[in-house]
Amino acid sequence: MRKREREITDLQEIRSILDSCKILHLGLSDDGQPYVVPLNYGYTLENGALVFYLHGATEGYKYDVIRSNPRVSFAMECDAVPFEGKVACQYGMSYKSLMGMGEAKIVTDTAEKQLALSILMKSQTGKDFAFNEKLVSIVNVIKITVERYSAKKRPLPGNFTE
Ligand SMILES: Cc1cc2nc3c(=O)[nH]c(=O)nc-3n(C[C@H](O)[C@H](O)[C@H](O)COP(=O)(O)OP(=O)(O)OC[C@H]3O[C@@H](n4cnc5c(N)ncnc54)[C@H](O)[C@@H]3O)c2cc1C
Repeated sequence: MRKREREITDLQEIRSILDSCKILHLGLSDDGQPYVVPLNYGYTLENGALVFYLHGATEGYKYDVIRSNPRVSFAMECDAVPFEGKVACQYGMSYKSLMGMGEAKIVTDTAEKQLALSILMKSQTGKDFAFNEKLVSIVNVIKITVERYSAKKRPLPGNFTE
């Protein structure tokens, strides 16, 4: 990261970004052609190991791409607040963001899908939900095992008040 002072390494702060963002932009590569698709997610972060769970209909282009190339990247952002300045280059946006890369897998095991959907709903709503076999059979679940990620924040300038 070029601006090291903006890097976030504190796990609590990283967790708070993961709790806030709600939408992940999943980057896929279809034979060299990038494809980015926004999706809701659930996550686990245990001993520094980050895993995402995504879900959707049982068919779609994103699954075709993942099947042929499971290498993925992702980005998410939250708390984006624009600020003004006297001249154009002093305008900007404060934010928190997280991005990284890893490997995607389409989950087929029913018990793992049930767990993944519960994690997804907990991340999205803060509530506990259980899923029966019929419900999980009508959705696809993608698991992303994250290999590398970084988090960053840009604060509002010192002389700026919202
Ligand atoms: C905030 C947000 C949250 C979402 N959360 C989820 C989620 O959790 N699960 C989920 O399955 N989907 C979600 N979607 C919809 C998702 O972005 C895709 O539209 C959907 O998953 C289908 O993707 P696919 O690759 O299977 O495309 P397909 O349905 O196979 O269609 C392929 C083509 O449709 C077009 N297309 C696909 N998605 C979009 C889009 N979002 N906007 C414009 N054009 C598009 C593109 O041209 C693409 O090449 C969300 C969208 C938004 C904006």
